[in-house]
Amino acid sequence: MAFGTIKLTDDLYQYLLRSSVQEAEILQRLRKETAALPAALMQIPPEQGQFLAFLVQALGARRIIELGVFTGYSSLAMAQAMPADGRLIACDLSEEWTAIARRYWKEAGVDGKIDLRLAPAMQTLDALIAAGEAGRYDLIFIDALKTEYQEYFERALVLLRPGGVAAIDNTLWDGKVLDLEDRDPLTLAIREFNDRLSRDRRVWISMLVIGDGMTLAFRK
Ligand code: CA
Repeated sequence: MAFGTIKLTDDLYQYLLRSSVQEAEILQRLRKETAALPAALMQIPPEQGQFLAFLVQALGARRIIELGVFTGYSSLAMAQAMPADGRLIACDLSEEWTAIARRYWKEAGVDGKIDLRLAPAMQTLDALIAAGEAGRYDLIFIDALKTEYQEYFERALVLLRPGGVAAIDNTLWDGKVLDLEDRDPLTLAIREFNDRLSRDRRVWISMLVIGDGMTLAFRK
C-alpha cells in the first residue's frame, strides 16, 4: 500500500469515474462540445463538477459566486444543485465562451438562477461589497486569473458568511508548483497564494487532489 494518498493510475481513475460519477446528460453534452475548443483544458473534469454540486447541497448554498465561467460546466452543475430561489453570480470576460454557457443554462432551465456579469471579476466583487453584500454568500468558486487569486480571495472572505466556503481551483497547477525553476508569473502566483493560504488563520483549509488540485477554505 502506498504511503499517504493513493496514486491514481489511468485504470483506477476510470474506476473512480465509473463507480461514482453521475453526470447529467446535458453536462455530458456540454463537456463534449467544450472538448472540441482550443482552450478545452480549462474545463473541470466531471468528478469535480459533481463535487461542487455536492458542496452546494452540503452547505445548503443559495448564494454563490463563480469567478471564471468559461463554457459554463461548473456553473451549470452548481445551479442545478441549488434550490429554485438560489442565485449564482457568474463572472467572466468572454462573450464567446459564455454564449455557449448561456445556451446550456437556458436549455437546463437554470438561466433564471444565474446572473452573468461580463466584467473583470475584481470589479464585480468590489461592486458587490459596495452594494452591501458582505457576509451574504455561501460559496465562492475562484477560477479566473491566477495572478489575481490573492486579491479575489481577500474579497471572497468579505463576501462569505461565517461558515461559507471558498473553493480555489488549479492549486496544484499541473505539478508546476513544485518546480522552483519555473518562474512563469502564473506558477509564481499560485505558489505564493498556496503558501500564504497555508498560514492564513482566518480559514480552515483542505487541499483536494481533484482535477488540477482544488483547495477549500472554510471561513471561520
Ligand atoms: Ca480551472
